[in-house]
Amino acid sequence: MYRTHTCGELRMSHVGQEVTLSGWVQASRDFGALTFVDLRDRYGITQLVFNQEDNADLSAQARELGREFVIMAKGMVRERSNKNPNRATGDIEIEVKELQVLNASKVPPFTIEDETDGGDDLRMKYRYLDLRRTPVQNNLLFRSQLAIETRKYLAGQHFVEVETPVLIKSTPEGARDFVVPSRMNPGQFYALPQSPQTFKQILMVAGMDRYFQIVKCFRDEDLRADRQPEFTQIDCEMAFVTREDILQTFEGLTKYLFKTVLNIELPTFPRMSYDEAMQRYGSDKPDLRFGMEFVELNDLAQNKGFSVFDSAELVVGICTEGTAEYSRKQIDELTDYVKRPQIGAKGLVYVKYEIDGSVKSSVDKFYSPDDLKSWLERAGAKPGDMLLILAGEEEKTRKQLNELRLEMGRRLGLMKQGDFKPLWVVDFPLLEWDEDTQRFYAMHHPFTSPKPDDIVKMQSDDRLVLKGLRADAYDLVLNGVEIGGGSIRIHDRDLQMKNFSLLGFTQEQAEYQFGFLMGAFEYGAPPHGGIAFGFDRLCAVMNGQSSIRDFIAFPKNNQGRDMMIDAPSEIAKEQLNELFLSSNPPKK
Ligand code: ASP
Repeated sequence: MYRTHTCGELRMSHVGQEVTLSGWVQASRDFGALTFVDLRDRYGITQLVFNQEDNADLSAQARELGREFVIMAKGMVRERSNKNPNRATGDIEIEVKELQVLNASKVPPFTIEDETDGGDDLRMKYRYLDLRRTPVQNNLLFRSQLAIETRKYLAGQHFVEVETPVLIKSTPEGARDFVVPSRMNPGQFYALPQSPQTFKQILMVAGMDRYFQIVKCFRDEDLRADRQPEFTQIDCEMAFVTREDILQTFEGLTKYLFKTVLNIELPTFPRMSYDEAMQRYGSDKPDLRFGMEFVELNDLAQNKGFSVFDSAELVVGICTEGTAEYSRKQIDELTDYVKRPQIGAKGLVYVKYEIDGSVKSSVDKFYSPDDLKSWLERAGAKPGDMLLILAGEEEKTRKQLNELRLEMGRRLGLMKQGDFKPLWVVDFPLLEWDEDTQRFYAMHHPFTSPKPDDIVKMQSDDRLVLKGLRADAYDLVLNGVEIGGGSIRIHDRDLQMKNFSLLGFTQEQAEYQFGFLMGAFEYGAPPHGGIAFGFDRLCAVMNGQSSIRDFIAFPKNNQGRDMMIDAPSEIAKEQLNELFLSSNPPKK
């Protein structure tokens, strides 16, 4: 009754047909004799036309329609005299015979067009209006398609989709838990899963063999553009597999998704160890769309009287192409960039290889042109290029230079849209030492297995040996974004207990928190491993975007608030009492 066709469907072949369309008024234009209305639904926009001479009442009614009114229009499809090649339905229009307003609309607080004038918070508050905009709607359609194709691929590989609980006990993945008080168990709390990690491992013990789930995870962290307190993972686990089996399976999934959804063939994914990634790019998720690899200069630049370099643990640079012509001001900008507190470098040294072959640098006082040329040579610089150099404590300096490399990549337009450079980063450290708390943390999570050759070294109490332990862990990186991560797991009770003790758990604490898992390991746990993809991030990266928000139907803002429903919010006193949150729980 409401419609015979959608607003994106009609073409020249329909000319002469009686049709009924329903949708929202995108815009109307009144030319006196003729009134045009653009009618929109999810599928497209169709032009309606009302003729004053044919039906004055109907035309008057059409002139009254406001933006976003919901209407139903019945009429005849006819060829347009003035065609619109930019619109799929642009060859035709509907000569309206009957019009019915199904619902009126207030004037929307921002324009519902591809480019809107609405600020972030306003768009979030009226998310239902924002979601009417084509680009946002397309993002959700993309996400839906990606989920469907993921299920198809994994089902084809014999994965079973299993739902795991949302009210659980804390599973440490390095973030804070969201907790839920239990009314029936006074003083006790559930935690929302940071991931279904322990459950998927238990499913392997249970013999499910291959598990997946497209699942919500919750982490109470400070928010950024690519983080939300609740986000979605494609979570997977496999039994009787080596790392190689997992990398092959999920490289396969990624290639399949790119092919079916974007029609892009990805080549075989290169692999790089964590150590190599840190050495060449100062990052465990390097963006391989461009080069600018790190060039170490200690042997060439030290002991020539420049104390900043002489006292540094590491002197390291990048060669930036075609930037020798940078002005004083541009170089100052870069210096300010690396000196920002978030990056924290003390200064920036440059060496310009001028077009005429001469050399100019900010350290000319300390080095001869031949010295500087030897640096340029090592960096493979050509006339017209410039070397940017940082120095200091090794680990920090590498991280700072990574930031500078990314900034130069942006400035020089090297992060090309439509260019996709995947990379497996493998062999992560098992443990990370934290100076502040003077203890080890799991780099991935406590269930990750060390590489087989490193298992014996776990018995050591030498901190350096422990720092050197390598995990059978891997990340999938795409254009500098970590889109997936996982590991081969520990499946032996004693080894798991040993790992907990390295992480500072007492026997009792480990037993209290993870006794169920270690208990399961005693009943025939198969070797197993898995991975989880950040589904929201994958959507954003595949679309060349950095913010995941527009791929989530109802995201939270930077303060973790849902602006539409206004959450979080206070709850009634009675509710608090019931949960024993305002009074002490009764003694057992
Ligand atoms: N649970 C891990 C995570 O959320 C992924 C995995 O190890 O499979 O990062």
